[in-house]
Amino acid sequence: MIELCALDSGEMQDLMREMGQSAFRGGQIASWVARSAEIGEMTNLPLELRSALAQRAVANPTAIDSVRVSRLDGTEKYLYRLTDGNLIEGVLMRYHYGNTLCLSTQVGCRMGCAFCASTLEGCVRSLSAGEMLGQILAVNRRLAGNCVTRADKKAGDRVGNVVLMGSGEPFDNYDQVVRFLRLATDEKGLNLSARGISLSTCGLVDRIYRFADEGIPVTLSLSLHAPNDEIRKRLMPIANRYTIDETIEACRAWVRKTGRRVVFEYALVDGVNTDLRCADELAHRLRGMQCHVNLIPLNGVKERNLITPSEQTVTAFMERLRQRHISVTRRRGMGEDIEGACGQLRRRTLNGTADGGRSDLTE
Ligand code: SAH
Repeated sequence: MIELCALDSGEMQDLMREMGQSAFRGGQIASWVARSAEIGEMTNLPLELRSALAQRAVANPTAIDSVRVSRLDGTEKYLYRLTDGNLIEGVLMRYHYGNTLCLSTQVGCRMGCAFCASTLEGCVRSLSAGEMLGQILAVNRRLAGNCVTRADKKAGDRVGNVVLMGSGEPFDNYDQVVRFLRLATDEKGLNLSARGISLSTCGLVDRIYRFADEGIPVTLSLSLHAPNDEIRKRLMPIANRYTIDETIEACRAWVRKTGRRVVFEYALVDGVNTDLRCADELAHRLRGMQCHVNLIPLNGVKERNLITPSEQTVTAFMERLRQRHISVTRRRGMGEDIEGACGQLRRRTLNGTADGGRSDLTE
């Protein structure tokens, strides 16, 4: 099936030509797709065209299967179903400046990080650009109350920012992720600002260099999680492939090339990387670099034997980095009552233990 949301305007026109239609129909369809409409709802298209299209295309291959809404902070957790039945997750965080959607880039993940639930069963497959865009379209539709014609009028009720921090390693699905980024920022499409998009990678060094050359001004987040190779290897298999020196050098090259800072993510795992000497070593490595450190107290995963540090430990680590002149914040926990952390809901559903958050189910 063709994914209409993954076609750029040239490709849409080609499709119309191939279907014996005039090119302007392509523009009409693109405008509907960007407003999250389904083919059957594209009411300014002739009925025959709608049914011919429905034979071979879907507007959006990603459907929201269930929703959990946090009673604490309004965070929404989605389980999406893809056309082949695979399930992926997403989280919508509501900030005062707008809605941020956390997207998945793969079904599962093969990076094998010791603390992460998404990788427990490996990678099933990578997502297409259309399946990534579809996550945004599905959530926009929900936010607009399922009313596609009103969707563009209620500008506040849309996804404004996107973080590629759901399941999967974006750079392990490089081509489709780059395609997604180009489509999502296309002014004829969703027209998101690249500056409102963050891409998080565990550090595929060759891809960082390549990505710097793409000229897509998103924020690069690098999952560092350790101040040296020895500790990093305990947490992340990727550390066996690239040294921390190579990884940070690639980030410095990114900063030089794009003029944009890098955000280093550092998940605090009690007794593994929380010693204040780790903070000193980290500060030393990042000295003079245009960067920011985001501390994430470990989100406990049942299957993993790792411990979340105490509040005191987190604060002390953060203070030490500050004293060493590193720009640092801690990630605010959101949706803690709805399993906001990566991969947890999908796993429980696959294992048949999720209740799908029925009490909060709104769809
Ligand atoms: N594969 C990409 C993006 C996915 S995860 C990457 O590695 O960056 C987004 C962030 O959440 C990463 O920094 C990841 O290491 C972190 N993360 C995953 N599981 C976590 C957990 N249980 N607790 C805290 N952070 C976690």
